[in-house]
Amino acid sequence: MSDNDKKKQTIKCPTCGEKVSEDVKTFPFCNKQCQLVDLNKWFKGDYKISRPIEQADLDEV
Ligand SMILES: [Zn+2]
Repeated sequence: MSDNDKKKQTIKCPTCGEKVSEDVKTFPFCNKQCQLVDLNKWFKGDYKISRPIEQADLDEV
């Protein structure tokens, strides 16, 4: 058995670019700070939703 077999999946934190292991609680963010930064982007409207959310979208069940 080699250590490579145990290698965990890592991605880059969307906020700061640090490597993040998938077993981190705040995955895909490296920590809560980065998670909040991303959340704030949403609130500020940096991410645009392609169309307004309609009531039909919310009634999924
Ligand atoms: Zn980060």
